Order: sequence, then C-alpha cells, then structure tokens
Amino acid sequence: MSILSDLKSLFLPPVCPVCGGPLAEGDGAFCMVCRTTVPRTMFWLKAENPMAARLRDFFPVVQASAFIWFIQGSPWQRAIHDFKYRSRWRTAYELGRWFGSNLARSGLYAGVDCVVPVPLHVRRLLGRGYNQADYAAEGIAEGLGVPVVHRALRRLRNNPSQTTRSTAERWVNVEGLFTVRRSDLLAGKHILLVDDVVTTGSTLLACAEALAAALPECRISMAALAVSYHHFGFDR
Ligand SMILES: [Zn+2]
Repeated sequence: MSILSDLKSLFLPPVCPVCGGPLAEGDGAFCMVCRTTVPRTMFWLKAENPMAARLRDFFPVVQASAFIWFIQGSPWQRAIHDFKYRSRWRTAYELGRWFGSNLARSGLYAGVDCVVPVPLHVRRLLGRGYNQADYAAEGIAEGLGVPVVHRALRRLRNNPSQTTRSTAERWVNVEGLFTVRRSDLLAGKHILLVDDVVTTGSTLLACAEALAAALPECRISMAALAVSYHHFGFDR
C-alpha cells in the first residue's frame, strides 16, 4: 500500500472490495449484490461435509468448514487475490467477521476456546508486510467471541510451489513445516486453526500435526475463508 493510494482512499467514496461498485449507506463491508450472491458453502452447518471428510482421512479434526467457494475467475476470487497480495487485508478481516458470526450461529463451534492463524514464513511476512490469515483469524474470533493466540506457531520454511502435486505428495511435502511456540497458552484447549484459502488442506493438516505432537490433549477444528471448488466442489 503506497502513501499515494492511502491518500486516494481518504478522498474517494468507499467501494465494495468484491465488485468495485459503490457502497451504499448501511451496506457494511460488502455491497448488497455481493452479499446476496456470495457463493457460500454452508459447510459450517454440518459436522459431516466434503472438507471435513477429506481432512479426517488424515487427522481427527473435530469440526472443519470454509465460508465461500474459491472459483477461478469469480469476483470473490479477485477479492481474495487482493487481500493476499495487494494489501487489502481489511477484506480478510471483514469476511472473517461474517464467517465467525455464521460459525457462532451454527452451534457446532461452541466448544472452541481460541483461534490460531496459520503463520507465513518470516521472510514472506516481511516481504508482504502482513499475514492475511491473521486478519481472517481476528475476524472469526470476534464473530465467535473467543481470543486469537498470535504467533502460536512458527513456519520453518516456505513450501515450494505445490500446484502440480497430488494431495498425498503435498502432505509429505509439508511434514515438519511448523513448530509450536505458545504451548503455555494452548495446553488443553479446543483450537480453531484458521487459514485464508484451502486447496488440498495440506497446510492446515501440517499445523494440526505440529499441535498434536506438542499438545496431545488439545482438540483441533479448522476454518478457512474459502475452499477450492475445483478440489471440493460437487462435481468432484
Ligand atoms: Zn459488490
């Protein structure tokens, strides 16, 4: 975010981060059209859903869900790209808050004690200046009414590009990727691990493995703002 674009945003009327259209009074973070046409998965209403089922093949996750479908070329995909790479971290926070209130209403996440974001490697964090998963976690925690434990995990290396690997290969590739830093704050807790986008789930699974190894008595659930339709959609 440059100083110039910061200044511009002070004087321009607020726009919807999804469609770029003007925000009306009372719209909140997203315009009415985008709020009503958002491609929600509804996974958080069911303990059994395609994402939870896939993750449970690898780890005994308590609950798992994502808020919206990540669909290539959709306006929401562009909004996600913007919050990952173009400093629009506020969109991750607002989407997280929206998701968090839905998680709270579902009742399935009532036992969650705290939220832990998936960390970036320090080099990537310094390059980007922020971790979008931190903002997603803040929003979700606010919606759920529980605290975020920041810097609970450390990422030991950047994972190489995984786009051509199978789920099993990716899983091997991320083993030992994370270590637990705040065992003192997490002992005995039901932890909600939060990432921004789930493709195969291998990153969340690697975090869960690290937590389970350090704190075997913890219970772990998972939530992401978006999940790949290509990997988890109904046509698969
Ligand atoms: Zn919009």
